[in-house]
Amino acid sequence: MVYAQDLKSCEIKPSCGFESHPRHKNMSTMPIVTRTLKQTSYHVRGAHPKLLILSGTHGDELEVTGCVTEYIDSHQPSLPDYVYIPKLSPSAVRLKTRRNMFGHDLNREFVHNPTDPEVITAIKILEPFAFSLCIAFHEDPDRRTSFYMYDSHSLSHEQLQVYRNLVTQTNASLFTGIDDPADKKLALHVEKGYIHTPILGHHDTGFSMRWLIMDHKSDRVLNPEIPGKADMDLKQQLVDKMFAFGNTLV
Ligand SMILES: [Zn+2]
Repeated sequence: MVYAQDLKSCEIKPSCGFESHPRHKNMSTMPIVTRTLKQTSYHVRGAHPKLLILSGTHGDELEVTGCVTEYIDSHQPSLPDYVYIPKLSPSAVRLKTRRNMFGHDLNREFVHNPTDPEVITAIKILEPFAFSLCIAFHEDPDRRTSFYMYDSHSLSHEQLQVYRNLVTQTNASLFTGIDDPADKKLALHVEKGYIHTPILGHHDTGFSMRWLIMDHKSDRVLNPEIPGKADMDLKQQLVDKMFAFGNTLV
């Protein structure tokens, strides 16, 4: 996956949801600054980015990162200013495993006084910023075509309708059931592709979503779970739709 530095050469896809929202039209392509702290690389566009995009929390969910990078590369003029961290856990991505080189599931390590070096680095990177929205992309390895999303806040009835319509425009279905019965910190009921997770605010569970909200790093966090067994085309479609939906919330 290549992160296009030369944005002027980017193609603008007419199917993009952002284009229908003129307030995000930004035809003067802002320069993107790419930095690396310790092992973690990140891209910053604009002086006051309001959108945080995360992927690569788990190293066995690699394909979605390619889809996210592809979307960002090809939709620059219509994206709000952003920070993008493609590999939140660089060592897990390198190992292609859920756990990182320190034996940690990174999405359980965003605790009070964290010890995981990659979490400490991520917190340091995000220190200067305050976001309206974070979209943290994951894959659910158990799903083939069914999709769902965690949300730190509750969508209105109308917003839910918009969200579900966008998902059903792809070849995916809306997942209903228990997210991960084997995970004691999860095992939450998902209804038609959506789950609002206020429970994450009540315990020091180490979820990045909880940290982002509790430390006022982001007003809202969406956590799309792209079906891990889906083909690349469906993964890309779902990523595209999640950016389009995120645009309605920024
Ligand atoms: Zn994940």
